[in-house]
Parts: sequence; structure tokens; C-alpha cells
Amino acid sequence: MSRESETRRTGEKQPRRRREKAPTEPCRRCGGLGYRTFPSDDLAAAAVCECISACALCNGEGHTTERDDGGYLWVRPCKCASVQQRVSRFNAVHLPARYADKNIEGYRHLGGNQNEIKYLLLNYRKNYAPGQRGMLLMGDPGTGKTHLLTALLAYLSLELGLSCRYIDFMSLLSKIKEGYNQGKSEAAIIGPLLGFQVLAVDELGKGRSTDWEVAVLDDLISRRYNTNSTTFFATNFGDDPTQLAGESGASYYQPRQATVQVTLEDRVGPRIYSRLHDMCDFHVVRGPDYRRRDLARTRKSR
Ligand SMILES: [Zn+2]
Ligand SMILES: [Zn+2]
Repeated sequence: MSRESETRRTGEKQPRRRREKAPTEPCRRCGGLGYRTFPSDDLAAAAVCECISACALCNGEGHTTERDDGGYLWVRPCKCASVQQRVSRFNAVHLPARYADKNIEGYRHLGGNQNEIKYLLLNYRKNYAPGQRGMLLMGDPGTGKTHLLTALLAYLSLELGLSCRYIDFMSLLSKIKEGYNQGKSEAAIIGPLLGFQVLAVDELGKGRSTDWEVAVLDDLISRRYNTNSTTFFATNFGDDPTQLAGESGASYYQPRQATVQVTLEDRVGPRIYSRLHDMCDFHVVRGPDYRRRDLARTRKSR
């Protein structure tokens, strides 16, 4: 405003004025991202940073109005609106609270092929296109599969603005059972999961593998498959139980026994297993169990 009136007063254009301003430093609260993530009760939450909510372009309203030459008023989304939208996307993912601040860059590679897996995921997210083939991460507990899965969803929702959802298979089953008690059908619980552009199913193969559990999984997977939607999975079960427990950085701890005696195919059945191969690339994550390693370190330092 003052610049404009100054220009009018002097009648000169002042193109250099803007450049004289010191380059603006990225916001200290959010590092220039425009949002912050944090744990909130059981879930991870995101909020628009103060530097955006106080947007000077639109006074924080998320849109600006302009009058055209014909006198018509146009409402246009402000740049800050996309941050608000991406933040709501993240809040709809329902990531567990303890993964609120996880990113792929921060994935600790402690041994095995974890470094390779990290760069594989960084590459995947860089080249992601909607509807892209998913990924199935198999590996021993404590190799960071949930970290990778949640970090991928955080990026796809917060940076790319995609609608994503995280579920762990056991809590899906208990939600369906709860639903039965309230007179809701299984479809009422599974239905909403089909609309997400990206779905991640954690703890695949856990549970008792009853006929009912396998049928629920079959229904979910077939319907995701039929709509060509990207689905990720993580599982403690592998193709070869002896292979998973090997090469896992035994130097951090005593050599490990195979924690899994059955394969993923044993757990989910050949039909689902084959469908998973149609939808996903399978990757084995090999590495030491970070929880056991941290525990050993804590004991040592006492
Ligand atoms: Zn900020
Ligand atoms: Zn704005």
C-alpha cells in the first residue's frame, strides 16, 4: 500500500525496492514447511503453523477476492489454502501418535540392508504417481517397517496432498467386531477404506488366521485391487522364515533365532498371497532389532 502511494507520488517505478529487503529466513517454528506435526492423544496430528495462519495475503482466510474489469468479484484460493488442505489430509491418515514426527530421512540404518531400503523408499516417494503399484515390507520385528510405512504416508499426505489412511490389521478386526455389536455390517467399516488414494495395512498376517479373518482381508484386498488403488503392507512374516532372521546385524546382540516359523503365504492363504504380488513389490527389510539394541545400551550405561 505504502509502496503504491509512494510510486504514485513520485511518479517513478521502483523495481529495486523489493530486492533491497533482506532475504526472509524460514520460520523457526516449522522450518518453512508451513505446518507442524505432533502427538495428540493416540494419534499423530498436524497443524498449520502460525506463519501461515497469519497469512498477510488473505488475513488467514484461505482465499482472496479480486474484481475483474467487468466488475465481477472472483474468489481465488490463497497459496496458504493448500497447506491447510494438506494438514487436514494428514489428520485423516490416523497415524499412531508415536510416529508423529517420523520421516524417511530419519530412518536409522543399523545394519543389514536398511540403507538400501531407505533409498528405495526415498526414490519411490520422489517418483510417486497416483495409482502406482504398492509395496510390501516384510521383516523381523524392530527393523523399522512401521516407521517407513508411516513416514511414507506422512509425506504423501502432507507434501503431495493425497488422501491416505493407515490401519493396523488387528485394530481393523476389532473395529469390525465392535461394528457387529452396533448392528453395522462389515462393509460399513471396510467401505470407507476403499476411497483413500493410498492405504497402508500394518501387521499383515497377525491374528489367529481364522476363516473369518482371512475373509475380511480377502474382501479388503480384492476391492483395493479392483479399483487400482495404491496399497502398502508391512508384515513380520516372510517367504522363508530362516532367511528373515539371518543377516540381521547379529553383532549388536546375540545371534537371533527366527521369530517366525510360518510364512506369509501360510498365514494369509495362496489366494491373498498371489493378489498381494499382483498389487505390490515385495521387499525384505533386514537389520537388527532397534528395540532390543536400545534396551541393551540402556542396561550397559547403568
Ligand atoms: Zn512456520
Ligand atoms: Zn493466505
